Amino acid sequence: MSIRLERDIMKKALLFCCFIVLFYHIDAQNDRLNSTKVDPSYFITHTRDELMAKLVDLPCGIKKDDQVKTILLKLNDYLTGFIPAAEYSDDIYARAANLQALKSVIQGGYGIGSVLIDKDGKIIEAAHNSQIQESRSDLHAEMTLMTKFEESRHSKKYMNMYVYKPGLTVFSSAEPCPMCLIRISTAGADTKYCTPGPEDGMVSRIDFLPPDWKALAMKNSVALGDCSPEMQKIAHLLFYTFLLDNRGPR
Ligand SMILES: [Zn+2]
Repeated sequence: MSIRLERDIMKKALLFCCFIVLFYHIDAQNDRLNSTKVDPSYFITHTRDELMAKLVDLPCGIKKDDQVKTILLKLNDYLTGFIPAAEYSDDIYARAANLQALKSVIQGGYGIGSVLIDKDGKIIEAAHNSQIQESRSDLHAEMTLMTKFEESRHSKKYMNMYVYKPGLTVFSSAEPCPMCLIRISTAGADTKYCTPGPEDGMVSRIDFLPPDWKALAMKNSVALGDCSPEMQKIAHLLFYTFLLDNRGPR
């Protein structure tokens, strides 16, 4: 075999190896960003007993017989002391959204919170669900956040009439529902969320939107955030805290 031929074969083998390494790296990265770090079945909770078992399992010191007030205090201590790891780029927003969600639960409301992030990664607005507190069917966390932002004086520099300028992201503790996803799409913001909603989220069902609404929703980035298992679990459990005392009209 000539030296030139040997070199050629070596070069091709090296290129093939590089391709395989790159392929697995990209695949692993996509897996990391597109899936949760928690078993997907965790995000379905139907009973108070299931909720309590998951709360006790958190690293927050919650005990089986704790009163609701004590559970919320322990969640508050954990979240306020939680230091987001650089490994999870969205944990800083997940923590802020979860703190908003907890604020609502403490007020007697549903546990969902949202923050609005500008193009530099700065949180410029925060809000939580207020349906029970305000007796208003529309006050989901994302709706409250966007109304608060659009009515604020500082929103003008971020908006062109009712459409947000590129770079704004609505980050929610839970996967947005149909109403909120449509509003976020109408405003032209990106969507990110901490915990998936297998039984209520619209992002994972985006294909079921009417074609024009789907096209509008797909104009912007819509994705699960890069969050730690702890933040994903807490976001889910805060959402389902209504099972603790059967709050709400149903
Ligand atoms: Zn909603």
